[in-house]
Amino acid sequence: MSYFNNRRKPPSEHVYADTVIWQCSECNCWSRKEFIYVDEPICPMCTGRMNQEAKSIRVE
Ligand SMILES: [Zn+2]
Repeated sequence: MSYFNNRRKPPSEHVYADTVIWQCSECNCWSRKEFIYVDEPICPMCTGRMNQEAKSIRVE
C-alpha cells in the first residue's frame, strides 16, 4: 500500500512583483501608487507624510 500516489502537490510558490507604493513615514500603512491621485498623499491612518518606495507585492 503506497501513499505516494495520493499525495497532494505542494502549494505553488507565490509570485511577487516590484510595485511603486506610498509608504507612511509614521506607521506601517501603505498604498499602491496607482490608487493615489495626489502628489503628496497623507496617511489615512495617522495623517503622517508618505514616501514613494518600491515594494515587492504578492500578485499570485
Ligand atoms: Zn501612517
